[in-house]
Amino acid sequence: MTSVADESIEYCTVHPNIETSLHCNRCGRPMCTRCAVRTPVGYRCRECVRSQQDKFFNAQSLDYLIAASVSLVMSLIIAGILSVIGAFFLLSIFIAPAAGGLIGTSVWRLTGKRRGRYTAFVVGCGVVLGALPFLLANPIAIGIYLLLATGAAAGQFRFRRI
Ligand SMILES: [Zn+2]
Ligand SMILES: [Zn+2]
Repeated sequence: MTSVADESIEYCTVHPNIETSLHCNRCGRPMCTRCAVRTPVGYRCRECVRSQQDKFFNAQSLDYLIAASVSLVMSLIIAGILSVIGAFFLLSIFIAPAAGGLIGTSVWRLTGKRRGRYTAFVVGCGVVLGALPFLLANPIAIGIYLLLATGAAAGQFRFRRI
């Protein structure tokens, strides 16, 4: 007769020398605490998390090109306008977040509302690069714009990870 204790000893699939009683709640494989990833639906192995993310992030490579060019061009126009407001640079505090949000939602619509792992980063870079040429023309207005618009634009793409 085999004891219950012997049967219940399991080892991590990735680290065969680590004993564990933890299982991935998707594929059921035994995994150690180092391999377990905490998700909103319970502990899962890295492989299952990765395959879920691949389904979740469905952007195509063309989306990044669209995201880069749309954010760059829009940022150029908006920063160009902001650079000529001169002494009214504080207006930038109100305009920049709205402009950033507008850039973000425009990219979101033009890329077919697909989710990209790197879209937030690409859009952030587009906004910064678009504004840089005007930085010297009105350092305060464009500085505020860089701070507020970049975050607002990239913030549209902070997806909840699975
Ligand atoms: Zn798994
Ligand atoms: Zn492990």
